[in-house]
Amino acid sequence: MSTAKTTAKTTATIIDGKQLSATVRETLVARIKAAGRPVRLDAVLVGSDRSAAIYAENQAKTCTAVGIDYRLHRLPDGAGYDDIAGRILLLNTEDDARAIMLHLPLPAGVDVERIQSLIAPEKDVEGVNPANIGNVVYGRRSLVPCTALASIEMIESTGVELRGSRCVIVGASNIVGKPIAVLLMRAEATVISTNKFTRGIADLTRSADVLVAAAGVPGLIKGDMVKPGAVVIDVGINRITGPDGKSMTVGDVAFDEVREVAGYLSPVPGGVGPMTVAMLLRNTVDAALR
Ligand code: NAD
Repeated sequence: MSTAKTTAKTTATIIDGKQLSATVRETLVARIKAAGRPVRLDAVLVGSDRSAAIYAENQAKTCTAVGIDYRLHRLPDGAGYDDIAGRILLLNTEDDARAIMLHLPLPAGVDVERIQSLIAPEKDVEGVNPANIGNVVYGRRSLVPCTALASIEMIESTGVELRGSRCVIVGASNIVGKPIAVLLMRAEATVISTNKFTRGIADLTRSADVLVAAAGVPGLIKGDMVKPGAVVIDVGINRITGPDGKSMTVGDVAFDEVREVAGYLSPVPGGVGPMTVAMLLRNTVDAALR
């Protein structure tokens, strides 16, 4: 274990989310083979949202590649709370359905959190049921929200000593920023959680050995907001219009500036995104083989 890099260097080491996720997937293939039992993921998709459908198609391919049987339950555009709740409750009762996830968005007017709270906690592979979020706080064995898990895995891959280190999280949503903060607290780091109302945020981020950006604001974290040698994890996924007029995906970190200062930096795309997918697969295997 090392502390955050402090030696002079030109550019940050890139934390390769694709590579790390490939390693996780290899481990899962081996676990599924060794278990000799089928592993299945039941995903509920409501309506005809194009992005959600593409996401589901990709998910089906990724699952098949590691040996997970992917079952997509499609509900029509007009489906309401009772229809969606009914499908989730039915899956809860099926012994063979051990891993359940819900694609977003849901139709307007359907309360997402109310639906998520219906997924049986032991089958909730996205970790979105409040019971699982509570388990994160208590440190109980449970299914942890995938993006939070992905961020922690990426931090740990650098070898940074978390105990006693100062971690600053920019963004405090229930499903991303808060669980990341709690997982870092569990690792006995000193954690500062910030949000859009935080005053003097640059002074806080500059003090961080580990900085996690999860605000959904493109380029929010500039080079002069980062401590030299820090580990910087970029969770943001933002679609913007690039200099060539084409749409592109960027994170919350001004990549070119920050890579001159940080010790380790996760890119977007190719960072937390692929690792989040890998953590969903790992949660699925954990739930199925429990
Ligand atoms: P959210 O909108 O629910 O929460 C944003 C949080 O950031 C809030 O706490 C808000 O107060 C804070 N914030 C906003 N502007 C800020 C500012 N200028 N300074 C400091 N804090 C600020 O968003 P979310 O669902 O937590 O997602 C955050 C980002 O992470 C988004 O870009 C989202 O697309 C991305 N995301 C990525 C993955 C992944 O797999 N990589 C998964 C989920 C979300």
